[in-house]
Amino acid sequence: MKAINQYFVLNNGVKIPKIGLGTWQVKDGDEAYHSVLMALENGYRHIDTAEGYQNEASVGRAIRDSKIKREEIFVTSKLESHIKTYEGAIEAFSKTLEALGFDYLDLFLIHAPWPWSEMGKDCKEGNVLAYKAMEDLYKQKKIRAIGISNFNKEDIDNILTHCEITPQVNQIAYFIGMDQKETIEHCRKHNITVEAYSPLGIGYLLTNETIIEMAKKYNVSPAQICIRFCLEKDTAPLPKSTHLDRIIMNKEVDFTIKPEDMAVLDTIKGDPRRWD
Ligand code: NDP
Repeated sequence: MKAINQYFVLNNGVKIPKIGLGTWQVKDGDEAYHSVLMALENGYRHIDTAEGYQNEASVGRAIRDSKIKREEIFVTSKLESHIKTYEGAIEAFSKTLEALGFDYLDLFLIHAPWPWSEMGKDCKEGNVLAYKAMEDLYKQKKIRAIGISNFNKEDIDNILTHCEITPQVNQIAYFIGMDQKETIEHCRKHNITVEAYSPLGIGYLLTNETIIEMAKKYNVSPAQICIRFCLEKDTAPLPKSTHLDRIIMNKEVDFTIKPEDMAVLDTIKGDPRRWD
């Protein structure tokens, strides 16, 4: 089966397509609308957005206009990182649903364990409150799966200890050079599916010499090596592009990277987002 049609089964039995289209920094309006529509017309069935991206309205409109049945498309959105109360989460979810124009959502994530403006702040109590709201929405069948994003081992344990439902997904920064070993092992232990955000390192990985050489060897592009790498590691990559040729390229990853070449890619260390 082609990679774009493959899926993971979450710990509650819900299927999630392995490759999703990212939409961070994609402008609301034409840009978001056309990116999502191009992706859907080319076989993508998984779209990743967030309240914080401010493009939910265009994402939803593109999904409706695609004429693909709603239940065939897996849509994720995220609770803004500063919302850490039960009531706040319920209200925000209802705004998300309204913006998207849907009557249910496939996956809703706590965007981060702390507000982006206060990274590292201890918000354990607030995360539990927000998550409990998501649990209730899940029980009311308004969301098919719930989860977290940017949560480390300690943040995950906080949810496991104080909440009822094991998160279905943890969406984390994961790409060549960013191994996230401890978090990934913890997710595996609790059967939490890992989504790989910034699989191309926001594009910075594409100029890495080792990756360029590897791409030549496999007769593919550096982007395809990066995305295939995430799949080989059993994570769900969410490449973002607003260009048709790249949207198509990013799903054409029907090759395997040999273990010895994966080992070479594993030697790349560091976060390319900080290389410039
Ligand atoms: P990516 O790693 O997906 O890289 C995107 C960049 O690479 C863009 O500049 C894009 O440009 C370029 N690009 C895409 N495909 C190709 C290609 N084939 N060849 C050359 N360049 C290419 O970055 P993101 O950080 O956007 O991550 C992906 C998604 O993950 C996000 O969009 C978002 O949905 C999610 N995310 C979640 C976060 C969270 O906190 N939960 C944080 C960050 C991301 P162009 O568009 O011009 O083609």
